[in-house]
Amino acid sequence: MTTLTFDSLNPATGEVVGTHPRQGPDAVREAVGRAAEAAAWWGGLGHPARRQRLLDYKAVLTRHLRELSRLVHEETGKPVGDATLEIVLAITHLDWAARHARKVLGRRRVGTGMVGLNLAATLEYLPLGVVGVIGPWNYPVFTPMGSIAYALAAGNAVVFKPSELTPGIGVRLAELFAESVPEQPVFQAVTGLGETGAALAADPRIGKVAFTGSTATAKRVMAACAENLTPIVAECGGKDAFIVDADADLARAADACLWGAMSNAGQTCVGVERVYVVDAVYESFMRELSGRVTKVRAGEDYGPITMPGQVDIIKRHIDDATKSGKIVTGGPGSVRAPYVEPVIVEDVPEDSPAVREETFGPTITVRRTRDAQEALELANASAYGLGGTVFSRNTRRAMELARRMRTGMTAINSVISFAGVPALPFGGVGDSGFGRIHGADGLREFARPKAISRQRFPMPGMNLTSFTRGPSELERLIRLVTFLHGRRKR
Ligand code: NDP
Repeated sequence: MTTLTFDSLNPATGEVVGTHPRQGPDAVREAVGRAAEAAAWWGGLGHPARRQRLLDYKAVLTRHLRELSRLVHEETGKPVGDATLEIVLAITHLDWAARHARKVLGRRRVGTGMVGLNLAATLEYLPLGVVGVIGPWNYPVFTPMGSIAYALAAGNAVVFKPSELTPGIGVRLAELFAESVPEQPVFQAVTGLGETGAALAADPRIGKVAFTGSTATAKRVMAACAENLTPIVAECGGKDAFIVDADADLARAADACLWGAMSNAGQTCVGVERVYVVDAVYESFMRELSGRVTKVRAGEDYGPITMPGQVDIIKRHIDDATKSGKIVTGGPGSVRAPYVEPVIVEDVPEDSPAVREETFGPTITVRRTRDAQEALELANASAYGLGGTVFSRNTRRAMELARRMRTGMTAINSVISFAGVPALPFGGVGDSGFGRIHGADGLREFARPKAISRQRFPMPGMNLTSFTRGPSELERLIRLVTFLHGRRKR
């Protein structure tokens, strides 16, 4: 029997990087079956043994850093340095997840309250079994590892379906895991196109699906999961805003804005897409920004557009924005597939596609606002709510703006810095999805709370959960509850 295959291509050169099997529903079923057995073994190992294996895996990945960076560079087209940076970040998350799983998820006693004085209560977070991870191509190590590392640390087995654009790196991540955990296929990769991911989401033995990609596909995956009541964590796109307040360090703000928008050719879910600058510093900020952008070049500072179809979306947004707005840098001619040079457009109407839809390209729209309050209102007037940035020298003011930003994460006086702090949860609201990866919340996302209450001794004269309960016991209960809760207290 011949196996169907597909090629992953270098988006910069069109060369074939690797050929991989198109694993259909049968192959996915088999992988999940193997994973279910592996999950029982891995889950039974306990936290200390898993910690040691995961730290070993971390060391293996670190020793293969150069090789992995090269592969990410070939499959995505991004500069090797950027690939290295994302893998280093993934390694720090793996380290954190391995070291904190026991503390966050391990068994602990919890208080029982006055009415439960005769009870002992314990809480722990147990693995879900097999977690299906469906990953994207833009950060093919960092993003899926945000689910994989936390799911493994929580005691689950993982079946990972990498994007069809970056299958090689997905397969390699799983292969290297087997060096640290050779006994069982605790972490497997299955390759193929959308149908492979669909088969994974539809398998009833999957305990949870961790999806990263577009909002539209997240809805399809969620519909498939609904059949089996499989829970899902959905990390979808964003339309992140960058607010520059009147007292901001404008040189730093412009530098950060440019990197946040253009690095990785703008193919970053938490990349800067909309910039709101208060009137008082608008001209000065734009001078800083336009002075710097002339030095940023596609093909040198960032790579090509990884997904060929995305070029049309970027072009549509640029065409529309340049018709209704005022060009600062670039324009329709900046699109020279597979590369797109930086594009900055100002005064684009807030209801245009370039402001409302995720562009996923090296483009930004900039708008002058009366004050930071108006900037915040415009920032929040988006269906998305993933990340965002505030630049201000006044910490109190910046904190207030950040807290009121309707997103999962906000960086102050830096861009995307929250992604590098493993203790911080990562995820969105609205069309950006729900659930969290990273941090303690990310560990709990891949576990089920298990609550146990144990009676230590019978409560004299207070057996409330019995048909032998009489009026005197009820009377005692009313007196107790009135004493505890009946008074107005501060
Ligand atoms: P998709 O949402 O289509 O794909 C994401 C992942 O889901 C891929 O692994 C894909 O596999 C898989 N998939 C596709 N269809 C199904 C299905 N029916 N069931 C299960 N899994 C499926 O994103 P694209 O890569 O096509 O990018 C489209 C847009 O999504 C981008 O323009 C960007 O706006 C946004 N995006 C956002 C990302 C983020 O970080 N938040 C990351 C990537 C994209 P395959 O690749 O094999 O088709």
